[in-house]
Amino acid sequence: MANIVAIVGRPNVGKSTLFNRLTGTRRAIVMNTAGTTRDRQYGKCEWCGKEFSVIDTGGWVVNSDDTFESEINRQVDIAIKEADVVLLVVDVNEGVTQFDTEVAHLLRQAKKPTVLAVNKVDTFENQYGAAEFYKLGLGEPFILSAENGLGSGDLLDEICSRFRKDDTDEEIDDLPRFAIVGRPNAGKSSILNALIGEERSIVTDIPGTTRDSIYTRYNKFGKDFYLVDTAGIRKKAKVTEDMEYYSVVRSIRAIENSDVCILMLDATRGIEAQDLNIYALVQKNKKGLVVCVNKWDLVESKTTQDIKGYENAIRERLAPFTDFPIIFTSALTKQRIYKVMETALHVYENKQRKVPTAQLNDKFLPLIENYPPPANKGKYIKIKYCTQLPNTQVPTFVFFANLPQYVKEPYRRFLENKLRSWWDFNGTPVQLFIRGK
Ligand code: GDP
Ligand code: GDP
Repeated sequence: MANIVAIVGRPNVGKSTLFNRLTGTRRAIVMNTAGTTRDRQYGKCEWCGKEFSVIDTGGWVVNSDDTFESEINRQVDIAIKEADVVLLVVDVNEGVTQFDTEVAHLLRQAKKPTVLAVNKVDTFENQYGAAEFYKLGLGEPFILSAENGLGSGDLLDEICSRFRKDDTDEEIDDLPRFAIVGRPNAGKSSILNALIGEERSIVTDIPGTTRDSIYTRYNKFGKDFYLVDTAGIRKKAKVTEDMEYYSVVRSIRAIENSDVCILMLDATRGIEAQDLNIYALVQKNKKGLVVCVNKWDLVESKTTQDIKGYENAIRERLAPFTDFPIIFTSALTKQRIYKVMETALHVYENKQRKVPTAQLNDKFLPLIENYPPPANKGKYIKIKYCTQLPNTQVPTFVFFANLPQYVKEPYRRFLENKLRSWWDFNGTPVQLFIRGK
């Protein structure tokens, strides 16, 4: 299972600068939530061959009537509950503040693996200021300049050393794993209960136990798979912003641990920012996708035309990826809820699909012959051969060309669309690379 690192700290200590350094800005997902003054970010970092998720919880200062302090407490609370390692960032120039002391206390109390980064140590000369932070009782303070990178290697080594050791071989078995994700009140628990019944084990909140009970095995009607549980989110949350945040952070773990995500939308509400945030997480993690439009019983007009309009609107919002199934359900009346599972299994199969090289070339080479990539700067581009790579997370194809750098995105997309029209890759991301010989 992937590990999650949450960055916490006061505003202006350098959290988002550090986030960018760890993940590279390009690859970040900005999670914007109504009411927050700054957006939270989610990205991936790789160090020593390990990939982990990084969440900058820094935007979690809301324009509510709550005090700054209680907002921060929530920030830390979420980090404690949902992350594997908390990275507390402090500012060397400010010294130990009241806030730092309080946060450190919360983290110690929770016995949370914590790494303390003393930021803005831009040169070795001012590293001595870092010693003061020993008194936070969080062990050795790691000096850091998020801006110029000083100290970041040691910091990353320390973070990685705190990860759970079992993160590579925790795969239970190779049954498909589905996650039902979506914003609060979309009907996730309802559909889960309708499928599995109330005997479903209750997810406990005790740190360390949630991840063991996160899977529920489903074995009925000849279908066998795991449902990755995101339930239990609502129960903890107090206010709307809290719920949104919990649901996104909880979704991260569920999505990362799944093969196919069932994205639940509320038919009465349409697609909103939070749905798009969760969708972005699904995409970033290259998971299969089934879109489920729930509460269909509440929709009055259901002509074929209405349904088409609905489908088109959804595909438009989730573009450019449009090749995924959409199912209209009611958890209340159980309409089509088994269809959702069948479809998820089908997407899972598509995600495993292997196309023999001979078949690929038989289809693609005549097509490419007739519709070659447009010549570039007077040079003709030839694609001679294509093949699917073995052992990849999603179906991955390589096309070998004499001048790969001249094959542009529209042509790559053209090839992908053809691929999707010839073989069933519905619901699964695919990758197409053009490479030199
Ligand atoms: P956040 O509010 O905690 O996310 O802080 P930001 O990352 O937005 O940084 C706040 C300010 O501190 C910005 O002006 C940064 O350029 C600056 N800053 C961040 N890291 C460093 C650092 O390592 N050294 C110095 N000198 N400034 C930094
Ligand atoms: P979750 O937060 O996504 O787990 O949502 P819940 O399963 O708790 O459902 C939120 C509310 O929507 C509850 O009051 C459910 O009874 C209701 N609900 C869920 N699915 C449906 C549905 O298909 N139709 C109708 N009418 N109500 C639903």
